[in-house]
Amino acid sequence: MAPGKRDQRDVEPAEPVATTQSLTELLRLPVGSVDIGIMDTRATPGFPGTKADALALTQALAPELSDLQERLFASGRVSEEEAKKVLVILQGMDTSGKGGVIRHVIGMVDPQGVKIKAFKAPTEDERKHPYLWRIERELPPPGAIGIFDRSQYEDVLVVRVRKLVEEAVWNARYDEINAWENELLDAGTILIKCFLHISSAEQKDRLLARLDDPTKHWKYNPGDIEERARWFAYVEAYQAMLERCSTQRAPWFVIPADRKWYRNWAVAQLLLEHLRALKLEWPAADFDVETEKKRLAAT
Ligand code: AMP
Ligand code: MG
Repeated sequence: MAPGKRDQRDVEPAEPVATTQSLTELLRLPVGSVDIGIMDTRATPGFPGTKADALALTQALAPELSDLQERLFASGRVSEEEAKKVLVILQGMDTSGKGGVIRHVIGMVDPQGVKIKAFKAPTEDERKHPYLWRIERELPPPGAIGIFDRSQYEDVLVVRVRKLVEEAVWNARYDEINAWENELLDAGTILIKCFLHISSAEQKDRLLARLDDPTKHWKYNPGDIEERARWFAYVEAYQAMLERCSTQRAPWFVIPADRKWYRNWAVAQLLLEHLRALKLEWPAADFDVETEKKRLAAT
């Protein structure tokens, strides 16, 4: 990142920006070429306030999120064929806040309706299968919200950067993933692909904070320094992912993530907008309510 950017780190946005546009439109990556190096990781697009309002504004989304999630869950109980599934994919460099989003955003809804999966390096058993095999097994069932902390995209990110397979193999995966996602969409899955975009300087601060705080040592992995040394190779890999896999039907959302409070609000707002768009109704009773009341009264 440009060194000058650090100077503005503690300056809050001067003017609150009103959410005139949906965040879905605002953060959606246009199809085509991408330069994540020039995107401001400390920006707060669409945020209707300042940092001081962040917690309240995020919490204010909770009742509607929770209500819509329950409607979605109810639809899954009524008809597995017709119920939608929602899948939130979180990708980003180490310390970008994938775990934080799960805690703060997904924590706002009923855990019974949520399926969370953090993908690690594939196990020996997983490596015997095609790379999408372990991903497919973690997809949300009808009526559920699935959250991926890392995803199929690691197979064009760490795999590309660390040269874990030949170029021809990872290179073919962009189209494979697009085709696979199209099948998911056809089968009634709503995809919300979130790239949590942090700067190199912010990552350094967050790693240092982990080292400085004994309660965060468990989160620190000495291997993170080796990954950090490959920052530019990762930037290149992320850029290719965004360029080749942000499609009309399954766009990537780029979330400036240096400010944790903005990041959490933005993912919650995106999830809310996607759930609203489903226009979920409460399932109608498949029994006669008056008859049931009479039967109950007779007991
Ligand atoms: P963390 O998210 O910090 O728990 O780390 C998980 C690790 O698993 C990261 O270093 C990822 O790069 C690695 N990982 C996830 N998926 C894959 C994959 N498909 N191939 C290789 N490494 C992976
Ligand atoms: Mg880690």
